[in-house]
Amino acid sequence: MRENALNAIDTGMIKAILETEKPKMKLWLKICVRCSLCAESCFLYMTRGKDPIYMPSHKFIHTIGVLYRKKGEVDRQCLQEIGDIVWNRCVLCTRCYCPFGIDIPDMIALGRKICRTQNIYRRYDEE
Ligand code: SF4
Ligand code: SF4
Repeated sequence: MRENALNAIDTGMIKAILETEKPKMKLWLKICVRCSLCAESCFLYMTRGKDPIYMPSHKFIHTIGVLYRKKGEVDRQCLQEIGDIVWNRCVLCTRCYCPFGIDIPDMIALGRKICRTQNIYRRYDEE
């Protein structure tokens, strides 16, 4: 019972947060043309063998993109995968540049905010 309570996700809260940021976030998700021009401005991408999972666009598509696509209806496993990206693959250094004006750190920060509300934080002992 207690375990169920701990694993429960408050999707109502997630939906409410997504709703407050919806116009801006949906616009950015829509205008991203997957050109990858932002990639080389991310030092994590550059220092990790240019692994696509560190591409700024890849990071927001697989976090905020997933949350809006699923309309906030995510389970803990899904949110933990999102948490892994927003906590461990981005440091919010704000150096990534998108010629279309997409504010990538703002999107990642929203992912972190949602994870925090569900007790999903950076884990330092699992690298
Ligand atoms: S975020 Fe901007 S630079 Fe990066 S892939 Fe999307 S449109 Fe291109
Ligand atoms: S804010 Fe995140 S995605 Fe952007 S350059 Fe920094 S680490 Fe990379």
